[in-house]
Amino acid sequence: MTKKLFWEDPYLTTIETVVESVFDDLVTLRETIFYVFSGGQESDTGTIGGYPVLESRKSGLDLQYILAAGHELKRGDSVLVKIDWERRYRLMRLHFAAELILELVYRELGQVKKIGAHIAPDKARIDFHWPQNISSLFPRLTSQAQALVDQDMEIISACSDESSQKRYWEVPGFARIPCGGTHLKRTGEVGNIMLKRKNIGKGKERIEVYAAAK
Ligand SMILES: [Zn+2]
Repeated sequence: MTKKLFWEDPYLTTIETVVESVFDDLVTLRETIFYVFSGGQESDTGTIGGYPVLESRKSGLDLQYILAAGHELKRGDSVLVKIDWERRYRLMRLHFAAELILELVYRELGQVKKIGAHIAPDKARIDFHWPQNISSLFPRLTSQAQALVDQDMEIISACSDESSQKRYWEVPGFARIPCGGTHLKRTGEVGNIMLKRKNIGKGKERIEVYAAAK
């Protein structure tokens, strides 16, 4: 099973590890820092042994990486694994901004149903079934989320169940939420939060979340 170093230390940008298996263009690693799309957070981009990773996917608890045809990696090779850190850090900041907003939306609206979420490097979005214009909440959501960010609180990321690799994040005194994404160490890293509304059809509301570096 691939050892997921992006959980133990989400700030790793480069590691040296060993190729665990190779099947045509598909490679697995002993350890990885390459996050694979999950919980709405996009996959990392970067290289394995100098070869760009074209696609990554989950296979059970293993992670598989697809390289361009013609790569020369073999099982047992030592390789350098590098991720695009600038992109990943933007994903982490937007992911946590979205986590705060989502939790605050639940507290404001109670029975609201989340119907989707996506975290890209430029913005995050969360979609809800909600019959009204959700932007009336924005001043409250923004000021509450920004207050949590400005207090620069500790964010704990840990495992709740080893065998199934279930994880959570926790800001003590605020919330503990199940999530397998890569999370910041402190809320202050999020930056300045800004929200935009998109009406995406009948009874559906989208909140776009932006986070500008301070
Ligand atoms: Zn999360």
